Amino acid sequence: MLKIWLDLMFGGNIDDLLILPPSFPYGGMENPCLTFVTPTVLAGDRSLASVIAHEVSHSWTGNLVTNKTWENFWLNEGHTVYLERRIDGLLYGEQFRQFKALGGWKELQNSINTFGATNPLTNLVPNLHEVDVDAAFSSVPYEKGFAFLFYLEQLLGGPDVFLGFLKTYIQVYAYKSVTTDEWKKFLYSYFKDKVDLLDKVDWNGWMHTPGLPPVQPTYDMTLANACIALSNRWVEAKESDLNSFTAADVKELSSHQQIELLTLLLLKDPLPVSHVKRMQEVYNFNAVKNSEILFRWLRLCIRAQSVGRCHTTGTENGNRAGTDEVHSAFISGPIQL
Ligand SMILES: [Zn+2]
Repeated sequence: MLKIWLDLMFGGNIDDLLILPPSFPYGGMENPCLTFVTPTVLAGDRSLASVIAHEVSHSWTGNLVTNKTWENFWLNEGHTVYLERRIDGLLYGEQFRQFKALGGWKELQNSINTFGATNPLTNLVPNLHEVDVDAAFSSVPYEKGFAFLFYLEQLLGGPDVFLGFLKTYIQVYAYKSVTTDEWKKFLYSYFKDKVDLLDKVDWNGWMHTPGLPPVQPTYDMTLANACIALSNRWVEAKESDLNSFTAADVKELSSHQQIELLTLLLLKDPLPVSHVKRMQEVYNFNAVKNSEILFRWLRLCIRAQSVGRCHTTGTENGNRAGTDEVHSAFISGPIQL
């Protein structure tokens, strides 16, 4: 993977990885040349390798070029998610990159639903004056940032054209910290022959307006359609339909597609407890080691008032983001403990 990444970019140091105990609260942390990662990245199916792609990409977007303030955090995370998904594309194909991109849009929807669509903390560039930055943390700088860059990629000529911009941006701003205004000025200077296209971008809508972005990029739907069809079956199923679900439903779905299936279900009204129990019978998500599947599954259970394995997850898993979401679902959900 590192070779692919280094070929994609322009060479650099090789990172070492240190797997920490479950008490390490993040998916990964991009310390220069020694990335820390949660043990939950060892999913047993290599499906969480994109965490490594993400942290290694931070060597360039985050460590070499850094956001000047936390209000510009999207510069670190949006660009890093963009590079992470370029690596996904090189490893598993363009359809997969687009599928991951669409999954990111769902994560963004989820965060905006949690914060509220008019909450200014869902701005791409929020005002953090007298705001606890920890309380403001969400997937917004990651996924709204990625969606914006993916939208610009499509607007300005495609992946190769946009990668040329990113490489030059990193070379020009190496060892510096950057604001969004500086980044935007550089974008305009790099694409000076496409200023008419850039002038059509709703900058205020993307940067300084809460809620979902003003434009949704287009995505290849090949891998997503199977997830959409199965999630719709669960949402629409009556009690008498539950026997129609079998283990074969998810046999052909990759781990990433199972994550997407659960993400889609979390965007819907809570499922009845009978549905969640049947899902466990046929898919046995309780036994899954992949934390990205497990965290979503547990939230689905909590929303359906079926606690299942939830009590143990805080001690078994690292990665604060996922555990936090399970905790929050407990606190805001209908279950009293
Ligand atoms: Zn990151």
